[in-house]
Amino acid sequence: MNSRSKPRIAVVGGGLGGLAAAALMQQAEFEVTVFEQAPALARIGAGINLSPNVTRILRAIGIDEKLRGTAVQPRSFISRMFDTGEETFRLEMGDAIEAKYGAPYFTVHRGDFHSILADAVRPDSIAMSKRLVSIQEDERGVELHFSDGARQVFDLVIGADGVNSTVREILLGPEAPRYTGYLAHRAIFPANAAQGLALDDCTKWWSPDRHIIVYFLTGARDELYFVTGVPSENWDAGASSREGSISALRETFADFEPRVQKILDACTDVSEWALYERNPLPLWSRGRVAMLGDACHPMKPHMGQGACMAIEDAAMLVRCLKETGADEYDAAFSLYRENRIDRATAIQHESSLNRWLRHDTNPDWVFGYDVFNVPLVDRAREATSDLTKRVGAV
Ligand SMILES: Cc1cc2nc3c(=O)[nH]c(=O)nc-3n(C[C@H](O)[C@H](O)[C@H](O)COP(=O)(O)OP(=O)(O)OC[C@H]3O[C@@H](n4cnc5c(N)ncnc54)[C@H](O)[C@@H]3O)c2cc1C
Repeated sequence: MNSRSKPRIAVVGGGLGGLAAAALMQQAEFEVTVFEQAPALARIGAGINLSPNVTRILRAIGIDEKLRGTAVQPRSFISRMFDTGEETFRLEMGDAIEAKYGAPYFTVHRGDFHSILADAVRPDSIAMSKRLVSIQEDERGVELHFSDGARQVFDLVIGADGVNSTVREILLGPEAPRYTGYLAHRAIFPANAAQGLALDDCTKWWSPDRHIIVYFLTGARDELYFVTGVPSENWDAGASSREGSISALRETFADFEPRVQKILDACTDVSEWALYERNPLPLWSRGRVAMLGDACHPMKPHMGQGACMAIEDAAMLVRCLKETGADEYDAAFSLYRENRIDRATAIQHESSLNRWLRHDTNPDWVFGYDVFNVPLVDRAREATSDLTKRVGAV
């Protein structure tokens, strides 16, 4: 690898997966630069769930205490019937979930989380306004070409550039992600706008074909967020989100119980987001280039696990690079895929079914996963050792 002592790694995309990968790589003393197309880190108006499988990674990055000071540790998650409000499932969270899985559950403003994560990455290693347009791999390594004409060579490249990934398109050819036929409304507003409403920390109301989840975003419980899932045959906005209409939203949820009506009445602005999916990808890397997160496996957000999977990918990728050494990137990337594809595919599938925590559910397989200690599957090594044994026995 270019007879340099430290491989140069580029991460394309400064979203949640890309920043987590960069923070973990810097801890492992890899030389890494993040390239983000946006001129500044955007404060997207959205909330995000961070379950114990990912907060244990955030602890390793060293940002769990900062998050604890900003985020909510919801006391419970409650599922309810849309019309009667009858409880169909309750998962105790708060201290109970932290004691059970050894890491907390947070709900938080995505922008607050993004900026806390960005602070864990050395500022001189994040390059903004850098949109990747193409890649050329040769004996020197991988040359990245940016829309401003700049070019830079790296030993390894990680595509963390989201659902419309340019890296994915370069590796696999153009193929737009599939619109799922569902959109999500998202809104954030002051909790006191829903005056007189005693709200639980995190509630999902389910009807046969749509839902709304409502939760707090700040430890002070002064900011409320909701996200919906609503069937909508077409999405012709040409962008992944657009401004929504409050009156249309109220119409969509007109048969939901009075608490939901009160929440919708409190909200003044709403955005709409197209929900996209892809089938599990046939390859996660080629040569010196690998991908993670939504670039690999975008999913419906119905388990609140999309960003969690991007961050788990990042942690497993760094674990594999440490395991083999970055010079053996082929082995590292193959180990990475082998140890991520089944889990990412299972979560993609479960998300698409939209039944997570609706009725009695055991969440151990999702929340109990420990990316740092789960035994590594290495089929290539196992196959070689089987062969050696067989040849030895002849
Ligand atoms: C309605 C909704 C609700 C959700 N709720 C949750 C939740 O509660 N919990 C959860 O875990 N997940 C949730 N998700 C999913 C989550 O937001 C995504 O899965 C997650 O952001 C993926 O992370 P990523 O790093 O792969 O991509 P992103 O966070 O999308 O980051 C990609 C980055 O790459 C940059 N980029 C793109 N192209 C280029 C280029 N050519 N050059 C340079 N930079 C580029 C982008 O600007 C962006 O910053 C939700 C999603 C939706 C739509």
